[in-house]
Amino acid sequence: MVKSAYIHIPFCESICAYCDFCKFLYNNEWVDRYLKELKKEIQLNYKGEELKTIYIGGGTPSSLNVKELKFLLDICSILKKEQNYEYTVEVNIENIDEEKAILLKKYGVNRISVGVETFNAKLLKVIERKHTKDMVLSKVLMLKKYFDNINIDLMYALPNETLSDVKSDLASFLSLDVPHISLYSLIIEPHTKFSVKKVEYIDEDLDYEMYKYINKVLKENGYMHYETSNYAKVGFESKHNLTYWDNLEYYGFGIGASGYLNNVRYENTHSINNYLSGNYIMDKHELSELEDMQNFVILGLRKIKGISLLKFKQKYSKNLEDIFDISDMLRNGKLKIVDNQLFVSEEYTYLANEILINFI
Ligand code: SF4
Repeated sequence: MVKSAYIHIPFCESICAYCDFCKFLYNNEWVDRYLKELKKEIQLNYKGEELKTIYIGGGTPSSLNVKELKFLLDICSILKKEQNYEYTVEVNIENIDEEKAILLKKYGVNRISVGVETFNAKLLKVIERKHTKDMVLSKVLMLKKYFDNINIDLMYALPNETLSDVKSDLASFLSLDVPHISLYSLIIEPHTKFSVKKVEYIDEDLDYEMYKYINKVLKENGYMHYETSNYAKVGFESKHNLTYWDNLEYYGFGIGASGYLNNVRYENTHSINNYLSGNYIMDKHELSELEDMQNFVILGLRKIKGISLLKFKQKYSKNLEDIFDISDMLRNGKLKIVDNQLFVSEEYTYLANEILINFI
């Protein structure tokens, strides 16, 4: 039974130098046409299940003006919610304001994810984000009047960033006293401004120093490291993202969104023209049993607590060790099994992606 839905809003006020998400510059004529098409897509495909999590991401949902945002929330009201649901909306500092925060609250949104990336003026300029540290402090303070479940997205290992820059960013984050943080080391994706300008990665050892420092300080401050890039105070783990890591099914609505329904993984078109003509799906693929097992393992091992070998056996009637040869990774300590849970050893979470490739 599907319990989650992701809705993509592709509009942004400006384009960041590292971004490879499906996004377009805000244009009110397009927003209007897009939202009408999104309404059609949801009405056509949603089967009326009670959902545990709804996530409106982007792009920048908060780039919509109040009237457009209200229309979007009205469209999403068709999605039924179970008790204790989680309803997240992503916002950016430049365009979230009190009127929009009140509107989100009124429509039952109960979690806000704020794209901050860095508080550092020099680095904000490099990544081409338009806010300032003071704006972050005041906007998050305003959001805290209406929401207690707030995530901050931060990046590190940005071009020429130093360990002391990371320390300062983390101190600013801690001063906000919010219960969740997602922290990503910069990846330079093809076709981004960074890639075109041939921006270079910082030194690998420095990147690792930053990672260790972040882990240590967040743990000391009561944040539980529960997924490779995510930390939360107890009870504030992202229920929506756990849907992905637990390999559960979910709707994906909107341009560029991906979804997983009835054992089929699909990806919507990235072309605005196709989307507006009602040609939503670009690619779909029914999973073989082996692919499903791979997803179970690869997504599940992103969680720090890993995966239950018993659940694997119950689901597939096979032992994980009979399908995947993990003996070397257990012997060299990259993977561990404790109480029938398989997980990436703490010393290797930094290299989790390299370990997970072994399951493909
Ligand atoms: S990073 Fe976010 S705000 Fe920046 S261009 Fe990409 S989607 Fe828009």
